[in-house]
Amino acid sequence: MNYVGRFAPTPSGPLHFGSLVAAVASYLDARANQGSWLLRIEDLDPPRTVPGSIDAIFLCLDTFGLHWDGEPLFQSQRQQAYCEALEQLLQQGQIYPCSCSRAQFKANSLYRCPCLAHPPSSQGLARRIRLPRQSITVDDVIIGPQTQHLADDVGDFVVQRKDQLFSYQLAVVVDDAEQHISNIIRGSDLYHQTPRQVWLQNCLNFKQPIYGHLPIITNNQGQKLSKQNLARPLDILQAPSLLSEALERLGQATPCTLRQAPVEEQLAWAVAQWDINCVPKCMQDPVAFA
Ligand SMILES: [Zn+2]
Repeated sequence: MNYVGRFAPTPSGPLHFGSLVAAVASYLDARANQGSWLLRIEDLDPPRTVPGSIDAIFLCLDTFGLHWDGEPLFQSQRQQAYCEALEQLLQQGQIYPCSCSRAQFKANSLYRCPCLAHPPSSQGLARRIRLPRQSITVDDVIIGPQTQHLADDVGDFVVQRKDQLFSYQLAVVVDDAEQHISNIIRGSDLYHQTPRQVWLQNCLNFKQPIYGHLPIITNNQGQKLSKQNLARPLDILQAPSLLSEALERLGQATPCTLRQAPVEEQLAWAVAQWDINCVPKCMQDPVAFA
């Protein structure tokens, strides 16, 4: 199998230490497996795109020596592909229109919305996918197997929002298939969303990639870092020491002699040494840079 990995940041702000750890891990896993490493800009929701942040992401990755293959894929240019996927789900009878607000949907005791039985006639409807009453188990190469009963735990979820934007779940699955992604190494914030994506891959006849989720980064007390903490932008002037810090978090600590070495040297060492089994099951806040 040809290994194809990817990094898929959302351009809603600058990259932070958590993004660096995810980028480095997916890069190393790809390169250590002689794979390619692609970049996708997840600008699915144009109002959330912060001007200048896409260029800042490119500059940041380049400065850290994380050079991607080929041209980046932009979700903002993929509407046609998402439409086709939605159309396929419609043809298969798997989606239905819904007029409920998020709160209304949550207030249902059922996993399924009453809109399925009583289709709304108003304009500006969301579309939900019908879920089976069964569990989905996803093997995770870092955290281990995860089982979720989608209907009970999540409920029929939205694939197209009322404002007609496609959901992240649909877009990411369509894009992973388009880019022939074989291995997804990413942050644990997406861990619980993976079974939804696997179900969509099933429905759309896409091959399921291998998943690995990095552990949550915690502070010294074992508490999960808040978004505010994590959102501190990476200082590209500190790239060598931040990279060395990221490698340490990933259980691939560089030798002392390499700690301040240029990023290319550190990465070459790390590709040769990479062992995904050494990635710890929990991760601590990089106090020195917080
Ligand atoms: Zn509804």
